[in-house]
Amino acid sequence: MSEESPKQDRAPTEGMGLFDTIVNLAKRRGFIFPSAEIYGGIRSTYDYGPLGALMLRNVRDAWWRAVVRERDDVVPIEAAIITNPKVWEASGHLETFVDPLVDCRSCHERWRADQIDGACPNCGSADLTEARPFNLMFKTFVGPVEDESAVAYLRPETAQGMFVNFLNVMTTMRRKPPFGIAQLGRGFRNEITPGNFVFRTREFEMMEMEYFVPPAEAASWFEYWCTERLDWYERYGVPKVMLRLRQHEESELSHYSAGTADVEFLYPWGWGELEGIANRTDFDLRSHSEHSGTKLEYFDQTSGEHYMPYVIEPAAGLTRTMMAMLLAAYDTDVVAGEDRTVLRLHPRIAPYSVAVLPLSKKETLTPLAKKILRTLQRRFVCDYDETQAIGRRYRRQDEIGTPLCVTVDFDSLEDGAVTVRDRDSTEQVRVPIGQLPGTIAERLEAELDR
Ligand code: ATP
Repeated sequence: MSEESPKQDRAPTEGMGLFDTIVNLAKRRGFIFPSAEIYGGIRSTYDYGPLGALMLRNVRDAWWRAVVRERDDVVPIEAAIITNPKVWEASGHLETFVDPLVDCRSCHERWRADQIDGACPNCGSADLTEARPFNLMFKTFVGPVEDESAVAYLRPETAQGMFVNFLNVMTTMRRKPPFGIAQLGRGFRNEITPGNFVFRTREFEMMEMEYFVPPAEAASWFEYWCTERLDWYERYGVPKVMLRLRQHEESELSHYSAGTADVEFLYPWGWGELEGIANRTDFDLRSHSEHSGTKLEYFDQTSGEHYMPYVIEPAAGLTRTMMAMLLAAYDTDVVAGEDRTVLRLHPRIAPYSVAVLPLSKKETLTPLAKKILRTLQRRFVCDYDETQAIGRRYRRQDEIGTPLCVTVDFDSLEDGAVTVRDRDSTEQVRVPIGQLPGTIAERLEAELDR
């Protein structure tokens, strides 16, 4: 028996109630914990639990697959988090990576002036200090002496690691524009007002790619990457109605940008950024050329010309994307007269692909269930659970988004078959054990290239 509740029936957002539900589910089920909770945590900092770690890895893989693996024009890199501070001088971060900071004279809270309406959101007082620029980079010292010459910064973005390696990568990999360099990794920003769970944190992970193109082709590659990146979110299960592409107004553009568009998601509090796609022109290569004295150019042998490529940059937040995917996947329905919560996560994004569940903890079932688990683990990320009634175990797997459950029962010992249950339809089919890996692969992969 199956009772379906198609996702489209649900309103795109159900307000902050949904947000609290997700925050709660994330904690209760082991996706995201407040960091160092036993010490009272630390403001807006989170640790990713077992399911969070699995899911982050899946989102990373999905990005990597689309941006690196399925292409022949993009190569990866992993650059240092703490590098030569001259990089941040050339990139403009030392001077311009600032937010306007104001203090409330009544309650002493600090705010970003551009995010409040002239009054303190905490106490309502309009007695605020003048806005002053606050640099968001985390400062540290390299080596044992804490003096000015030892100052360094934690990278606020991964992009610069790709610009400074432009020549190394182009030469060693024998590339010519158009080509891209991609990088995944942590970024650090001393945000004045972090918040909204993992939407804005001080330490987060980014998925960035710098695509170097002949200047005359920049506008069309910008359009191309806007479409590619918007499609990626849909491909991995974010419904179209919760996504939009918003072009920046002239006045919003960063100093380096000749065009920027944000992929936005409909968060419970309204539309907000998931990813920014920018035409950065030759700003970065030019600036690093000037500051370093090394010309970051491409020599076009056909025309005999040296030129500085333009850069199209799609820059996405991994942790923000994970949260958006959780919000988009949350659903409730009624199965056999009982309420259930189900995360309708894309099978590639769900923490586990398959759960192996022996019907009972009886010793007779365990060896066969474990044997099946070992076989499936070679190809899929599996959970194994033998405690509690089977109905409750199904509910748990639904709530963490596991697309398929494999139940080993007493008949399995006789007929060499198991039951495969589908998360979304709750339909159950009997499958011979020998055909299990193939059946599961088919069921999961059928959804991959929708
Ligand atoms: P915002 O306007 O939200 O501060 P931004 O425009 O400064 O973001 P970018 O520099 O374009 O962000 O960073 C690329 C992506 O990194 C963003 O689209 C977002 O998904 C993610 N990101 C940026 N800052 C944070 C943060 N403090 N916490 C979590 N993710 C972030």
